[in-house]
Parts: sequence; C-alpha cells; structure tokens
Amino acid sequence: KFEGVTMAPPDPILGVSEAFKASTNQSKLNLGVGAYRTEELQPYVLDVVKKAENLMIERGENKEYLPIEGLAAFNKVTAELLFGADNPVIKQQKVATVQGLSGTGSLRLAAALIERYFPGAKVLISSPTWGNHKNIFNDSRVPWSEYRYYDPKTVGLDFEGMISDIKAAPEGSFVLLHGCAHNPTGIDPTPDQWEKIADVIQEKNHIPFFDVAYQGFASGSLDTDAASVRLFAARGLELLVAQSYSKNLGLYAERIGAINVVCTSSDTAARVKSQLKRIARPMYSNPPVHGARIVANVVGDPTLFGEWKAEMEMMAGRIKNVRQKLYDNLTAKDKSGKDWSFVLKQIGMFSFTGLNKAQTENMTNKWHVYMTKDGRISLAGLSLAKCEYLSDAIIDSYHN
Ligand code: PMP
Repeated sequence: KFEGVTMAPPDPILGVSEAFKASTNQSKLNLGVGAYRTEELQPYVLDVVKKAENLMIERGENKEYLPIEGLAAFNKVTAELLFGADNPVIKQQKVATVQGLSGTGSLRLAAALIERYFPGAKVLISSPTWGNHKNIFNDSRVPWSEYRYYDPKTVGLDFEGMISDIKAAPEGSFVLLHGCAHNPTGIDPTPDQWEKIADVIQEKNHIPFFDVAYQGFASGSLDTDAASVRLFAARGLELLVAQSYSKNLGLYAERIGAINVVCTSSDTAARVKSQLKRIARPMYSNPPVHGARIVANVVGDPTLFGEWKAEMEMMAGRIKNVRQKLYDNLTAKDKSGKDWSFVLKQIGMFSFTGLNKAQTENMTNKWHVYMTKDGRISLAGLSLAKCEYLSDAIIDSYHN
C-alpha cells in the first residue's frame, strides 16, 4: 500500500549539510545551515548553558510533563526579554505566551491559529525569505503571497516596493516581518523605515507577525535587536511574535522557543492562550522541558544573564570579524572593480552574495563550498583562516 509513495526532494537547507557530510574533499566548507562555529569550525556549547545544566542536576529537577503551555518560568522570562520587563503590554498582561518547539514550532502554532480564527486571511512574506516559511503556511493551509524586499540592483532593500505591496494587500492581512537580521539577505529596514512600515500596517488594519530568530545574536545586544518589535508594541497594535533560542543560546537541538500574541486586553490574551493550548495538545501534547529550564535559569540569574550577554557579543563579534576579512579579501583580490560593500552592510549570520544558481553550483562543484542555491552563505560557519579561500571561490564563480 505504500508502493505509491514517491521520493521527497531533499530539503534545500538541511540537504546541503547532508551533501557536505558526504564529501571527502579536504577543503570542504559548510556554509549552508545557519549554525555558529568556532574559529576551528567546531560546534560551540555556551559556558552559561553548561552552568545552567549543572544547576539543574544540583537541584535534582524531575522529568514530569510540563503543562501544555510550557514552563511558567520560561514563558515569563521569554516575553520579558522580548518586550522588556517594564513594557506596558507585560505589566497589563496583554501577552499570550506559549512555549513552542523552537522558532519553527512556534511559527507553526501561530499559523494554525490564523487558519482557525482568520479563515481566508493571507500572510504576506518577504521575497525572498527563509525557505521554511512557505512550508509552514502551506502545511497549515494558510494562503500567502510575497511582498518585494530585496533589490538585486542595489543588493539592498526595495523599500518602495515593500511599502506598495503591503499597501496593495487586502485589509486585515498578516505581514510576516523578520525582527532583525533578515534571512537570507542580511538586510534590515532602518529605524525610520520601520516607522513607515508600521504606518502602512496600521492604515491597512494588517496584523504584524514577527519572526525573531536572532535576538542578541545580530547586533550583540538583546535590546537593539528587539527594537522593531517594541516599536510596533508601543503603538498599541495587536501582533504575533515567534521566538527562537537556537542561535542566541546555541540550543539548536533543544527545540526551545515561544509564540507571543499581543492582544488589546488581558482578557483577550487569556482566551487566545487557551486556544493556542488547544492547538498544541493534539499536535505534540506538551513541549520538552530541558531547553526551557536552561533559558529560565540563564535569564533568571543575574550572573548567568551577564555571562550570556558577553558570550553573545563574542559570537556576534566573531561573525563581524569574518565579515570584515571576507570583504577585505574580496576587495583586494577582485580586479574587476565590483563594489563589494554590500558584504559589510548586511547584518547577522548570513551574507547574501548575489551569486545565481549556476554560480553557486560552481562554488560547490569546483570549490567544495556547500551553500544554498539562493546565493546565501552562513558566515557563522566561516573562520578567519578560510576567508581567503572563500573569496577566491566567490570571485572565480562570479566571473565564470
Ligand atoms: N526563522 C528564521 C528566519 C530562521 O532563520 C530560523 C532558523 N534558521 C528559524 C525561524 C527557526 O529555527 P528553529 O526552529 O531552529 O528555532
């Protein structure tokens, strides 16, 4: 009976890691998946995570089920970290927060909520966006369409296009926005542009839906990276925010994140939360506890919280150094006069190189640089020592 099942294509991002593993070439580099590596290109477990885990062992924490909505101490600190503990939306209990299976699972819960309570409403997503966004809305049966975002001519933001597409969308659409460090382009609106985006969203009665996968990891500061979300919250808008601790705490495999729904009253927030729990129950019953305790212990302890911020700055700093060195090498070695300054303007763990599909194939086939076909490279997977090799590969691929 399973005879008729066809082979699914490999995932465009995680499939790159599979191909990388299969390669035996000595020079191979995996710049596909966005996962932080040390200068030695090894995975990194944060010291604060180890300390928080030791605390858990000392306290003899048990493995009982969590409630459907997750660990209360985690839900409290994750919303406070996002909005700021003194934010009126927190003080007035207007936020419904439910622990999710990292960023992906939290987005998926929100998508299910949209499908149930806003039938037919459309989600607007940026062109391009993180590939899994489309999968999530497709699987949730939520219709989506794209708004202009990236301008290949300037390798920058197509702000006019973005605004006019958001304006043209049916009233009451959801607008998916990357809180910081847009994936895959690394191009974010300026604070001024964020205000204008909020203006059109407000005018059109749209609902902003933030995906925050890099808080603290992009700039090195938790507050700076949450500024876009806080700007929208300060306007008294209803909004959705999915959070992930994969990158900023390096908890990729722990699957820890949250969905936050900011409502106009605490009463509405309580009802929304009850419905999120109802959606979660038949999907996975209740979320895993380990990552939630790590986050709660790190954020809840002033010493560990301070150490976390220092480690985050260190990771963000290493990526910025690699970005600078890559730019220096590209500029020094490329004799064509091409302007590489976009590499420095982009923020976060990715650089959008502008390499097309054929050129990315040259990167992989000739240079053993594993990357996604959209031209995105993860600088978090690059060392200072490999910058020169990578710039040779990029220059060769551009001009061939
Ligand atoms: N959104 C964006 C934009 C991302 O880049 C990522 C991670 N690549 C995620 C969400 C979610 O990742 P996770 O499910 O590991 O939290």
